[in-house]
Amino acid sequence: MNLVLCLTEQCNLRCTYCYYKETQAERKTVMDDETLEQAIRIGLERTILFKQHFFNITFFGGEPLVRREAIYKGVEFAKAIVADAMDNGRIDNTFILQFAVNTNGTLFDDEFFDFCEKEHFRIYLSLDGPEHHHNLARRTVSGTGSFKAIEKHIPRFVKLGAVALSTITRLHIDTIFESVKWLHEQGFQSLTTSVDFDGKWSGEEFDRLALQYQKMAQYWKECREKGEKFFLGTIHDKVKLVLLNSRYRNYSCHVYNGAIGVATNGNIFPCTRFITSQKDTPYVQGNVFTGFDEKACEKIHTFLDNDKQECEGCDIRYRCCAHECACTSFYTTGSIEGVSPEVCTHERMLAEICDNLIRS
Ligand code: SF4
Ligand code: SF4
Ligand code: SF4
Repeated sequence: MNLVLCLTEQCNLRCTYCYYKETQAERKTVMDDETLEQAIRIGLERTILFKQHFFNITFFGGEPLVRREAIYKGVEFAKAIVADAMDNGRIDNTFILQFAVNTNGTLFDDEFFDFCEKEHFRIYLSLDGPEHHHNLARRTVSGTGSFKAIEKHIPRFVKLGAVALSTITRLHIDTIFESVKWLHEQGFQSLTTSVDFDGKWSGEEFDRLALQYQKMAQYWKECREKGEKFFLGTIHDKVKLVLLNSRYRNYSCHVYNGAIGVATNGNIFPCTRFITSQKDTPYVQGNVFTGFDEKACEKIHTFLDNDKQECEGCDIRYRCCAHECACTSFYTTGSIEGVSPEVCTHERMLAEICDNLIRS
């Protein structure tokens, strides 16, 4: 089970593509200790209920390092209740407890790096690329670029095996390949790109993006052929799905029985993009203090079991994010049932590039 804890909605940055961007400045909520502990308890209980042997806790935000004390507390609390469950024979000693953090990297220091190293944290670092590329969208509160605040830490992030996450907006298109290559040259062996679908992508912009993806795909293939360790999620995942004859929902999607997202107020959501403490928000799956709303959970279950009508007959539907990923559908259309024409175009284009790569 992967438990994603939104420790705070506050952030020291103001990225142009932040999914809290409209409300970022007013978002002040933080998860209190009681909620934090109850969320971890619920996460462990759900893990045991589904007979899983792996419990991963991801500290998420906003920027979770704004609340680094809560990370320390969460780790100690999780270790203590997992040890108790082992002592009571509820889980055996093969059970794995793992931690991760999704961060913008600007608030790291030696103390926190040492802590991550000691606790074997998986670090997901939002780093779009070199300075000129990164600073296009990743800005501080005062509007300046945030690259300088991360640059000095890059070697340590690399040493700890951080995964670099790079977001593509329409402003980034022509420097994407260069940025992916730069990230790899810095030593990141695992990275992925995702697109900021803003409803304004034009055909001409998708054509330019296709050219960049072709270069990325070729570069990834050449690195792999040379025996280099290089996981480029954008290409790797699509290629793997074809080679394994699998589908996203089975290969890498964990909603329903593999993921719980918890907002600062304790509300439970199916995955990261849904998490918010705002009132009257859709897809709340319950609250850590009152438990799961099984009817709401069933909606997600039904989503997973069914194909989307609009996609009937489409032969790439099982590797298409618009079809398979509840988060993507939700943030691009407001509903898990929706299909965004932009994502549809993107997925067709990327599938073709990956198919050509497999054939070449
Ligand atoms: S670092 Fe993340 S949470 Fe903070 S403004 Fe940027 S995208 Fe939003
Ligand atoms: S809903 Fe999307 S983001 Fe969430 S686990 Fe599934 S594929 Fe991943
Ligand atoms: S490519 Fe378009 S039609 Fe095909 S599954 Fe994706 S969203 Fe549906």
